[in-house]
Amino acid sequence: MKILFASSEVSPFAKTGGLADVSYSLPKALKRQGNDVSVITPLYRTTIDKGYEFENIIDLKVDHLGKTVTVEIMRASAFNDFNALFVRYDPYFDRETLYGKEDAEFNDNLFRFALFTRAILELIASLEDKPDVIHLNDWHTGLFMPYYKEYYQRRIGQIRTIFTIHNLGYQGRYKIEMFKKLNLPDRYLKKDYLGEDGTFAIIKGGLMCDAVNTVSPTYAREITTPDFGYGIEDDLKRIENKLYGIANGIDYDLWNPATDKEIPANYSRDDFSPKRRVCKPQLQKEVGLEVRDDALLCGMVSRLAKQKGVDLLIEMFLDGIPDDTQFVVLGTGEQKYHMSLRDITLANKGRISVIIDFNLPLARRIYAGSDVFLIPSLYEPCGLSQMIAMAYGTPPIARKTGGLNDTIIGITRPEDILENKATGFLFSRYDFKSLRSTIEIARDIFSDRDMWQKLVINCFEQNFSWDVSANLYLELYKEQG
Ligand code: ADP
Repeated sequence: MKILFASSEVSPFAKTGGLADVSYSLPKALKRQGNDVSVITPLYRTTIDKGYEFENIIDLKVDHLGKTVTVEIMRASAFNDFNALFVRYDPYFDRETLYGKEDAEFNDNLFRFALFTRAILELIASLEDKPDVIHLNDWHTGLFMPYYKEYYQRRIGQIRTIFTIHNLGYQGRYKIEMFKKLNLPDRYLKKDYLGEDGTFAIIKGGLMCDAVNTVSPTYAREITTPDFGYGIEDDLKRIENKLYGIANGIDYDLWNPATDKEIPANYSRDDFSPKRRVCKPQLQKEVGLEVRDDALLCGMVSRLAKQKGVDLLIEMFLDGIPDDTQFVVLGTGEQKYHMSLRDITLANKGRISVIIDFNLPLARRIYAGSDVFLIPSLYEPCGLSQMIAMAYGTPPIARKTGGLNDTIIGITRPEDILENKATGFLFSRYDFKSLRSTIEIARDIFSDRDMWQKLVINCFEQNFSWDVSANLYLELYKEQG
């Protein structure tokens, strides 16, 4: 099957979060299963700086904001995991960051991604051998369907389209005034299309696809309710008969403590003693925590956004952390969190260390060196970090929501470790006291070395490989509708 996968970020070329991981590993798994897979993404400055070789495939003329602009379609010529294609238009994508600076997104993001989707349509129209399936991801690709229906259906013909919602909290929502420049008929402002009380959200364009899915079964159910639907729950309810949940996986070639070159000692399920003997003290030294074997070292690697439960963490830090625990947090995000977390680090030297940075090697050392991994999210479409943590033998402590609920087997009593093969600790109430008491439960079990080792083994024995989910996507691709 010939698949074209479109995403605003793709590892290893550009990454701000899990979307990039998925946009690398799912296409790679699909190709491994014998499909012809191309991935298309913008050519950002960070991608150019990484030193890949690019060749020009074609120059395309694209209608954009009432003008015709020329974009280049490039290809990473020496990259073999899949056919990696890029939309090059430097005025939009040759910038320091992907989406914006500090807390503000670029004010032309709507137009940047409108151009991205139209360039993809022009490319498909120019191909003799067209893809069987177009797989679109998140709001950045939301205008594909409106433009396809209005301007390209005749040139391209019928194609099967799939839209994946990775995070409903980001919708590409704009004021009506901006709509006029998009050159789409006004009927798209109706509620059944993109519109909503004085605004429009381009993610809703994705709902026009043949099938829509989100990244875990629990989140697929949650988003049709007001608590998680971010204002478009009715639209999602309306398309419930074509709405699916397919859990993400992780790429075990990339996330493997036995081969990871960034961690101070390698280890595996069969001998994981270096984890606590070497990785933990080295991490404590690196991030300025007291080197203590007995303290439960809680790690967190996350975007610092409300969604990720950063408020709970800060409230707990301010109220007081449990005895015999330490915390290392790596993340970037909202300025207000940067400021309070910096103050907290200064006031809790040796016990809490917060590193405000996006640092892939350090993230690996945190997955490896921590005893437990924190994910107190307010909501979590799927979450990759709990699966990565388990691959590194680090049980997660997480809020029972979305994909966290689907991928972690929670411990309610210590016997669950043996009887239910439990893998981590889940709490339901969104408050810092629940987070703290769950950390205390983990710490008490941690003091029983034998029991803890069994828990770690349960984590190692999980298998979240992409092969299973890639097959579910193939079914969606094939289904006629
Ligand atoms: P989301 O996509 O909502 O940010 P996920 O759990 O799906 O969350 O994926 C996050 C990915 O980004 C993981 O691979 C995680 O390790 C990585 N990550 C997040 N923040 C950082 C950071 N500051 N430094 C390095 N890696 C990070």
